[in-house]
Amino acid sequence: MKKLLFLLPLLFVQISFPQEAVHIKKERLMKRVEYLASPELQGRLAGSEYYNTAAKFGANEFKKAGLKPFGDEDYFQYLNIEYNQILPDDKFSVIRSNGSVRKCEIGKDYIYRGFSGSGNITAPVVFCGYGISDSLYDDFKSVDVNGKVAMVFKYQPKWNIENKGWKNGNPREKARVAFQHGAVGILFVSFPNDEKPQLPIGSVISGSGEQNLNFPELHVDIPIADEILKGSSFTLKDLQTKIDLTKNPFSLSTKNKVKIKVETDYAKEKRTMNVVGLLEGKDDRLNNEYIIIGAHLDHVGGQGGKIYFPGANDNASGSAAVMEIAHAFAEGKIENKRSIIFVLFTCEEQGLYGAKYLANHLPVKQEQVVAMMNMDCVGYGDSIQIGNGKSAPQLWRIAKQIDANNDKMMIETTWNGGGADAGPFHNKGIPAIYFVTTNSYEHLHQLTDKPETLNKSLYQQITKLAFLTVKKVAEGKYKREPVLK
Ligand SMILES: [Zn+2]
Repeated sequence: MKKLLFLLPLLFVQISFPQEAVHIKKERLMKRVEYLASPELQGRLAGSEYYNTAAKFGANEFKKAGLKPFGDEDYFQYLNIEYNQILPDDKFSVIRSNGSVRKCEIGKDYIYRGFSGSGNITAPVVFCGYGISDSLYDDFKSVDVNGKVAMVFKYQPKWNIENKGWKNGNPREKARVAFQHGAVGILFVSFPNDEKPQLPIGSVISGSGEQNLNFPELHVDIPIADEILKGSSFTLKDLQTKIDLTKNPFSLSTKNKVKIKVETDYAKEKRTMNVVGLLEGKDDRLNNEYIIIGAHLDHVGGQGGKIYFPGANDNASGSAAVMEIAHAFAEGKIENKRSIIFVLFTCEEQGLYGAKYLANHLPVKQEQVVAMMNMDCVGYGDSIQIGNGKSAPQLWRIAKQIDANNDKMMIETTWNGGGADAGPFHNKGIPAIYFVTTNSYEHLHQLTDKPETLNKSLYQQITKLAFLTVKKVAEGKYKREPVLK
């Protein structure tokens, strides 16, 4: 009897748990993540063959789940994007003033910016603070960078002058400023004074403007920056402290040189694709209304034939979850009244280009889309967060209610204004929510974002929650709510 009483609560949990969610399978989620994050797919850089292979895999998963092709051609919705690949056989080293050489290791000591140009140079390095050159503050005023490599902080100052904000300091902008002063390459460095200084990361964010084909751009680790500064009597930390305290430039010519040899394959326009599938609604009236569930499939690729960024959490996890949800609808024989558009976005990492393209080229009328749900970085961390709840509070509450009835993993904190691939839909007035795990970004854009780091049970829980939320909204009771700013 005692035993039986003990079992009773468990029984209730089982009964109250929605049956359909049993179709969300941990093993299947992880198997897809492992494939997407494997060396075979080399970090899924949008525009590359590796991304295209991932997209074909996604399309095939959609097909197996019984989704109808909903792209321009089969499951694919094509668009053109800017593309750059760092080719094999690169070299980067520090040449000390005494002639000795420190060979640097890609992925650890340095990582190229995604839109680095080519170059084969050996040149002295000049530290140029924040790499800013404007009328109130000029890091280039007192130094000569002509024919040299500029070393600058990757981000803008956290302070400003005369309450004027800084121009956006994206890598392309900083590279352009250095180039205009005669520099032949640029090294970006993180802030040594940050509580946890950022390690070099893979990133294809560049900013607008023309590609400088012959201008290498690297993100170097702080110890490498200090190696370059040796002989100057300052560490990078000293320099940041000095500049931030005085709010005055403090640039200097270092005693050391770097050798950079890198080739890149650049294309201003390269074809890539979103993967789009449709599950038709089963109600004659409501099937004209649509829910979009999406995740970005791309990541930041590989470099020099030596390293690649697996992007298991970012965002093989979200992509595999969207595929799993499609399967769960099929296997659970769910009678969804509204139609559901499943999508894997391309080119999020460069600037949400796939999501923007779909939001601007929807296969249905925009007014027919009642909700958009985004999944991005859903496999690492310790609880569930649903973003953009301040802009779509009713959708957020539906998810919150489902969570309260089930796993109770969702935190209250949310935000407004869209966020990543939810943004372009939010901006069009479509209510959107954003599924993410909390403390998700420890391995973000690093070589360590691997499947084995994922929190598998949390990953399954958030996928179940997303599935049940889509299913609930597909029932038709939720009416498209006005989007709050
Ligand atoms: Zn990312």
